[in-house]
Parts: sequence; C-alpha cells; structure tokens
Amino acid sequence: MTIIKRQPYDPGPAAWNSILPEAPQYPHLEENRTADWVVIGAGFAGLAAAKRLRQLHPKDSIVILEARQIAHGPAGRNSGFMIDLPHNLSAQDYVGELNADVLQTKMNRHAINFAESASKEYEFSKEAFVRSGKINAAATAKGVKHNLDYATHLKSLHEACDLLDQQQMREICGSDYYQGGLFTAGTAMIQPALFVRELAAGLAKDGVTIYENSAVIEFEKKTSAWEIKTAKATISTPKVILAVNGHIESFGYFKRRLVHIYLYASMTRKLSESEIKSLGGEANWGFTPADAMGTTVRRISGMGGNRIVVRNQMTYNPSLKVDKSKLDKFGIKHQQSFKARFPQLNAVTMEHQWGGALCLSRNSVAAFGEQEDGLFAACCQNGLGTVQGTLVGILAAEQASGQDSEYLKSTLAQSQPNHLPPEPIASIGANAVMRWGEFKAGREL
Ligand SMILES: Cc1cc2nc3c(=O)[nH]c(=O)nc-3n(C[C@H](O)[C@H](O)[C@H](O)COP(=O)(O)OP(=O)(O)OC[C@H]3O[C@@H](n4cnc5c(N)ncnc54)[C@H](O)[C@@H]3O)c2cc1C
Repeated sequence: MTIIKRQPYDPGPAAWNSILPEAPQYPHLEENRTADWVVIGAGFAGLAAAKRLRQLHPKDSIVILEARQIAHGPAGRNSGFMIDLPHNLSAQDYVGELNADVLQTKMNRHAINFAESASKEYEFSKEAFVRSGKINAAATAKGVKHNLDYATHLKSLHEACDLLDQQQMREICGSDYYQGGLFTAGTAMIQPALFVRELAAGLAKDGVTIYENSAVIEFEKKTSAWEIKTAKATISTPKVILAVNGHIESFGYFKRRLVHIYLYASMTRKLSESEIKSLGGEANWGFTPADAMGTTVRRISGMGGNRIVVRNQMTYNPSLKVDKSKLDKFGIKHQQSFKARFPQLNAVTMEHQWGGALCLSRNSVAAFGEQEDGLFAACCQNGLGTVQGTLVGILAAEQASGQDSEYLKSTLAQSQPNHLPPEPIASIGANAVMRWGEFKAGREL
C-alpha cells in the first residue's frame, strides 16, 4: 500500500475562478464503488484523459477524483496561453533543436485542436477558448534581438509570423513600454478557470462522474484491481490514469527526477470606463515576454470585467509548498511591472495575488507511460501545461486503451526525466539559474 503524504498546495486565491459567477459543485466521494476507469487529477491532463476515454469507451464508467475544487488548482491559475509553437523555457529565446521543434509543434497543434473540438462540442462560452494568436513582446533591444532570432527559427520551421514596431504595439496595448513584438497566429487564449469548468461540465453531461474535494490518500494493487482510497471511501478499478503533474512524485513515481517550480501572478481590480479610455488599445490581448524570464501580461474583458493580469517571478520548491509571505513580496514586484508599463493607470491596484505549481524535467520530457500493470502516468508538462497536459492526457488514455498512434510512439520513445543532483546542490543550482535569469531579463521583467 502506498500512502500519499503530500497534498496539493495552491497559495492565494484562484483569481480567474473568483471573477466568474459561482461555480457548479460536484460531490465528494462518500461511498465505496467500482469504476472501469479512474483518472486522478482534474487539470488539463486529467480532463483530456477523461474526454479521450469517453470517446474510446462510450459505455464505460469513468470517474475523476480531484483533491480540490474544479479550477482551483494550477489548471485554473495559469496565464491561459495555449501555444502551438516551440516554447522552450530553458532557452532565453524559446528556441530548441529543429527536428524536435517540428514534431513538438505538430503535437501541440493536435492538443489545441482537441481542446477546440471539445469547446465546440460542449458549447463553451466565447471567452473560454479563443484562437486569437499571441505576441512575444520586447521591451529592450535585447528582446527585439530575441524576437528576430525566433523569427529566423520560425522561418526554418516554415512557420509564419509578423514583426510589430513600437507604434503597432502601442495601438494594441496602449503602452509605449514595448519596442517591438512578434505575432504568431496559432495560439489559443483561454480563460483558464472557465475552460476547465466548462470542460468538466461537458464531461459530467457525457456521463463522467467527477468527485471534488476527494484527495487520494492511499492506493494499492490488489489481485485484479487498484484500490484507491480517499478520506471517506474507496474505489476499485482495473485502470488508473495519474494526472497529478508534479504530485506523481508524492505517489512514489519519478522520485528526484522532477523540478517543482511555483509561478506567481497578480490581477488588477476591474478597470473603470474612464481608465479603459485612458488606457486605449484593444480589449483583449496576450503578451509573452521576448525573454523567457520576463513578464507575461494579458488584458482581458469579459464576464469578469476589464482587467490586466501580470505574471513574473518563480521559486524552486522541492517540498511542493511555498512560504505564503512570497505572495506579498512578489505582489509588490507585479505592481512595479504593471506601473512601469501603464503609468496612465497609476491609481489601479491589484485585487488578487496568487501562485501555482508547475513541473519541469531537466531534459524537458514528460513523466509518462505505464508505471505498473494498469497504472498510467500523464504528468510533468514542462511549462506549457495547457497544451502538453492536454496532449499527455489524450495519449495516456490511448495507451491505456491499447491504441497506437504516431504521437504516442514518439512520446514513449522519449527518455525518462533525468535525475536531479543531490541536495543542496539542486536547490542552489536552480535558485542561481532563476535569479541570474531574472537579473539578465532587465526591463523585460
Ligand atoms: C501563474 C501560472 C501561469 C502559467 N501560465 C501558463 C500558460 O500561460 N500556458 C501554459 O501552457 N501553462 C501555464 N502554466 C502552467 C500550467 O498551469 C500547468 O503546467 C498545468 O496546469 C499542468 O496541467 P496538469 O493537468 O498536468 O496539472 P494540474 O493542472 O496541476 O492538475 C493536477 C491536478 O491534480 C490534483 N491532485 C494532485 N494530487 C492529488 C491527489 N492526491 N488526489 C486527487 N487529486 C490530486 C491537483 O489538485 C490538480 O488539480 C502556468 C502556471 C502558473 C502557476
């Protein structure tokens, strides 16, 4: 029997969820039962796995167990960029090796198309999933150079992009802060909490049973089934998909192979009509930073009002817990980044500050595949979890169902996540890389 000692920790509010009307509630698991399939975790990977299982097995019983409420975890806390193109966070300008980037782009698009067809089938609200593209925004000459290098790399991949000058950037965002930008059309922008809620709601209508506030605390392989225990009851099932991202380590797999990072973000209060006017620009846009360690900024308008969301700062947290005081400290940095970009919104304060976990591996591969008879992993999304989570969720469902596909083969052919160096070397190394990267990012932060 394995006892799961660490449970998810999500500091601060799930702001994207808080700005929406009240969420539908799902029950928690109170009685013992059986199921044909159990998916643990209701993030991008878990929901995609359940959706793919439903397509492959229309009549089977499928259960999702989620430790928290739907959209309260990292899947509802991110910046909402579903990026199709290479987005290698370990390179300053996101560029990776050519052939790997071609394959990754194809697989990313497969995942985004899957999300889009679910959004159509389940009739998502318009702002939950929009194929609007995104801009790599450059605030420095070095950032402009990163964009030019990235544009050259895109050309070698036969991918189109548009370079934007300062004036065009101002027309989009209302700020003079940026010297240039690089627009690519294939990114889908999601309202992450709305996307997750509406995907879960669609699955529930499709007969998938969702239990919230039902953390798995123990699991064990019996002769013919896995027994999965929550605080109040147990489910027996022949097949389990673990879609718990970095917490797969808490389940006893991929130990000391995963890099646990927390990212931090803040969201303004609603902008008033006069503030919207003084800001100018377009009502919705998304900027990733030209330097990977810089600041991601989004302007949103929709059912949660007109707001700006700022994301920067990261910490290395092998314990999967963070010190809550970090939120105040990083909130001040977010306010500074916001004020530098939008001096005309001097009176606008941040209403929400939060953090969320993501999981990387040193060699940028997923924690994927059958770990034991009937137990499959769909974890470690390497910074692009909206897309790669969706992808490994689809592929885990296919593998568990005995299906074959080109993308499954390539994912299974990847090596395992590399081992981490021993502590304290790993912590010292990770912190040094992050702090140095932030320092070098300069005005991009
Ligand atoms: C501030 C921020 C900004 C980000 N921006 C982006 C972005 O713009 N684009 C992008 O692609 N990615 C972004 N990310 C990363 C992205 O959110 C994650 O990589 C993604 O959520 C991973 O999806 P997942 O389904 O693998 O894992 P998660 O979303 O972490 O889902 C795993 C689920 O498992 C549950 N769980 C864990 N343990 C248990 C247990 N014992 N029992 C039951 N359930 C359990 C958790 O509660 C959680 O809901 C960002 C992250 C943060 C924090």
